[in-house]
Amino acid sequence: MIRERSETFLSIKKWKEQLPGLTAVFSTKNGGFSEKEFASLNTGMHVQDDESQVIQNRNKLGMHARAPIENWVCAEQVHGSIIKKVHSKHKGRGTTNYFNAIPGTDGLWTFETNLFLSLCFADCVPLYFAEPDSKFIGVAHAGWKGTVQNIAGKMIQQAIENKVDPARIQIYIGPSIGKCCYEVNDAVANQVQFCLNRAEHSSLTRKVNGKYNLDLKQLNKQLLLDAGIKEDQISLSSSCTSCEKELFFSHRRDHGKTGRMSAVLGWRE
Ligand SMILES: [Zn+2]
Repeated sequence: MIRERSETFLSIKKWKEQLPGLTAVFSTKNGGFSEKEFASLNTGMHVQDDESQVIQNRNKLGMHARAPIENWVCAEQVHGSIIKKVHSKHKGRGTTNYFNAIPGTDGLWTFETNLFLSLCFADCVPLYFAEPDSKFIGVAHAGWKGTVQNIAGKMIQQAIENKVDPARIQIYIGPSIGKCCYEVNDAVANQVQFCLNRAEHSSLTRKVNGKYNLDLKQLNKQLLLDAGIKEDQISLSSSCTSCEKELFFSHRRDHGKTGRMSAVLGWRE
């Protein structure tokens, strides 16, 4: 991703050129109004930050990214793999009030323009999907649970069921905790080994302490390849949210007390 003139977000460079009219951004932790552990651009409503400051943060991000928050749709994310289609009637859900977010959902998609899909992250993997002919766009939140439940493949499945040509879907795997910083135990490693169709587990590295380092971005890529997506349709961010302290909040690095970045994806009118 590339930094914009605004410090508040990064955008997908390749898509800026190839998909004009699409806003596809990931917010940073900078340029906002929140304080202490949420300093400063916390966009998460559910983390005990001052709600009015979160709304100001979202508003600033929305203005800078040309994605007004009245047209955002947000979800109550639960580390599952439920994906929902959303429409213009959902505009504003969960945007200034967490209680009307789309309930129990970790993936959103639409064919509509001027509707911005928005999910929160602090180490989990943001997955961006776009197919310009049908105007299909989708965003998914893939922590280790959503990943092993194959939320990536389920998004492709829903696209196919709705007549989107899977060979034309472009996918961006955004900033998340990297393999460098993401240690998991046997229980997680076991589930990783069972979620792929083939015996290729390059996303896991066994450590001398008996635990594993997990590359969640790579695992999501493998699941997309399993779903029939070709390598050249997928791009990966090289950023680690834990290593890059100046840019990102990190749930693991900050011991759970931290803010959230937002992925925002939508066709501008
Ligand atoms: Zn790292």
